[in-house]
Amino acid sequence: MKKVKMLYEGKGKRLYTTEEKGILIAEFKDDLTAFNAEKKGSEQGKGALNCKISSLLFELLEKNGFKTHYIKRLDTQNILCKQVDIIPIEVVSRNVATGSLSKRLGIKEGSVLPFGLVEFYYKDDALGDPIINDEHCKILGITQDQEELDFLRTQAKKINAFLKDFFAAKHLRLIDFKLEFGRDGEGNIILADEISPDSCRFWDMDTNEKLDKDRFRQDLGNLKLAYEEVLRRITN
Ligand code: UDP
Repeated sequence: MKKVKMLYEGKGKRLYTTEEKGILIAEFKDDLTAFNAEKKGSEQGKGALNCKISSLLFELLEKNGFKTHYIKRLDTQNILCKQVDIIPIEVVSRNVATGSLSKRLGIKEGSVLPFGLVEFYYKDDALGDPIINDEHCKILGITQDQEELDFLRTQAKKINAFLKDFFAAKHLRLIDFKLEFGRDGEGNIILADEISPDSCRFWDMDTNEKLDKDRFRQDLGNLKLAYEEVLRRITN
């Protein structure tokens, strides 16, 4: 399968059409952005690491009955996936308070939450991806349908429960992560985008060392080593 035309360039990936209608190639970039793209950087080899990590996780989710856009990994940097209309909600699941949750509500960093929290953020860079509730989603016309919002929340909770246990077995704490969903050609809502240390927070089980994009956000250094460590643990 070959790239035909670039459809879209995002912060972490480029999407290309292929000769086959409804099938896209997603290319993982080395670029890094944080704080709504106010901070920018790049790390050679980061795209390939995310491509591998995300592919492994999507394969695992597919094998366990979750419907996703993922078809297969083509090479170090590119995956084949189904074209979807992305629902403009960043669906964030959290197990431990940190980041914007701690800032917004004053919950102490590192506090274990009593249950897996799911939040919706409106995917709009110009607005800074504000947090929204179900009624905002309906007013914005993202969906009129409570059933769809309930489905997104339930899927996020199921995926969180599944991945939390998977990572725990790899000696990683899944702190929080962001998912995106889209509608496929038949109107089904399936998981899309990526799952990688760019979109998740992972802390080492014993030391709480950060093994994710916080190394870039907080200038901790050794970002690639951290992503390599995540890959090493999940392939073991
Ligand atoms: N996240 C993401 N993309 C975004 C915003 C957040 O992938 O545009 C992920 C982030 O990596 C973390 C989780 O969602 O795993 C929660 O992020 P948070 O709301 O704490 O925002 P941050 O502090 O990263 O700005």
